Amino acid sequence: MTIKLTNSKTRKKEVFEPIDPNNVRMYVCGPTVYDRAHIGNARPVIVFDVLYRLLRHVYGPDHVTYVRNFTDVDDKINARAAESGRSIREITDETTQWYLDDMRAVGAMDPDQMPRATEFIGAMISMIEGLIANGHAYTAEGHVLFSVESYKDYGKLSGRSIDDMIAGARVEVAPYKRNPMDFVLWKPSSDDLPGWDSPWGRGRPGWHIECSAMSYELLGESFDIHGGGNDLMFPHHENEIAQSCCAHPQGCFARYWLHNEMLQVEGKKMSKSLGNFFTVRDLLDGHDGMPGVPGEVIRFVFLSTHYRKPMDWTAEKAEQAKATLMKWYRQAGEAIDSAELYQPVVDALSDDLNTAAAIAEMHQLSHANDQPALRASMHLMGFLQNGIPDWARGVDLLDYADRLSELRTIAMETKDFSAVDAMKTALLDAGVEVRMSKAGVELDAGPNFDAAKLEGLL
Ligand code: AMP
Ligand code: ZN
Repeated sequence: MTIKLTNSKTRKKEVFEPIDPNNVRMYVCGPTVYDRAHIGNARPVIVFDVLYRLLRHVYGPDHVTYVRNFTDVDDKINARAAESGRSIREITDETTQWYLDDMRAVGAMDPDQMPRATEFIGAMISMIEGLIANGHAYTAEGHVLFSVESYKDYGKLSGRSIDDMIAGARVEVAPYKRNPMDFVLWKPSSDDLPGWDSPWGRGRPGWHIECSAMSYELLGESFDIHGGGNDLMFPHHENEIAQSCCAHPQGCFARYWLHNEMLQVEGKKMSKSLGNFFTVRDLLDGHDGMPGVPGEVIRFVFLSTHYRKPMDWTAEKAEQAKATLMKWYRQAGEAIDSAELYQPVVDALSDDLNTAAAIAEMHQLSHANDQPALRASMHLMGFLQNGIPDWARGVDLLDYADRLSELRTIAMETKDFSAVDAMKTALLDAGVEVRMSKAGVELDAGPNFDAAKLEGLL
């Protein structure tokens, strides 16, 4: 069983060979927790969840360690606390829970470890001390900076020279920097900002050092896969490599770097000003008059595009995905578990995580009505984890519609609409879409439909 992955470091598709097949190790950069995750943020989560599932299948579920961090110290969080008057901890705890709920809703397994940056400040301080001691970092005006000129491979991942970067980037020019590209490892905190005691006074870490410190603590100085969106390649990943390779020169940090391409919405870059910005929760619950989209439908749309291609979220794709999944669930949902996975689907995923090709294979299985193979493939891709969801069952709501019209006829006579309102509220609460007009009553199961809540209504 060979897995091939496109390694951003070498720009080649390579055969994946883990350092230790008994413990395959993967690190993925996680969210900064100050607000709901937008749908773009779900792309790396879903992509690396499929890779995690594939690795567990190939190496065994107990032989893979997946780490994804929470950035809970950041100036955007500080700003949110200041403007809302809430405590930082309250904001980061709440947002962390939202993130977990939303990502579970799109079928992502929790990683094995989800460290919070603030729990690793000591490890970051030790790493920075090491970098100063071996000449890769220096102190200036209460800051500690990484010296990019001290690391000859700086820029290799993103393929730029330091001079190109200076010319092309909006770098923060500060008088205390020896080179404009030098980046902050530690900075001073005023009394109103979070801070920790350090050899350089009370302060807080720069952004990049947390991933270097946490991956070292949890996965060691050399591990297998590092992932994230390709917007993180520069400067974040470039800086992670510089810090880790200089602090632990005997290690090689991450061997395979994987980057997902960006997500757009209806052909345009997502932005608040274009009005096409929405969060995963907006999509799940429905927003701006649009009905909610079930988490597995979101997952299906995402996986229909290969992770290295730009992906376009459209309402039309969601409609199609919903119809396909509905059909597949009915075919595969009640099938008996097959022991064997369908090899062409595994092969497609093993070829640089070609989820689009895997889905094409699954369409073939559906046409051939090969229910056990379809079921096993859906499992591997992270679908059908908790049986057939209610929205895919196609429930019969006719009796409820009849009862509601009956109550309405009575209410027209008595002018007492309380029973109509009570039934309507109960139906809405069960996730039923209710349309009442002169022509009659129409009911449909919405994406959050919960059949259990209908009990006793007739
Ligand atoms: P952030 O919280 O901005 O650091 O982003 C968290 C993760 O989401 C990173 O891996 C980003 O690369 C990824 N990401 C952000 N925006 C998008 C997008 N539009 N499409 C795909 N991935 C994204
Ligand atoms: Zn990172």
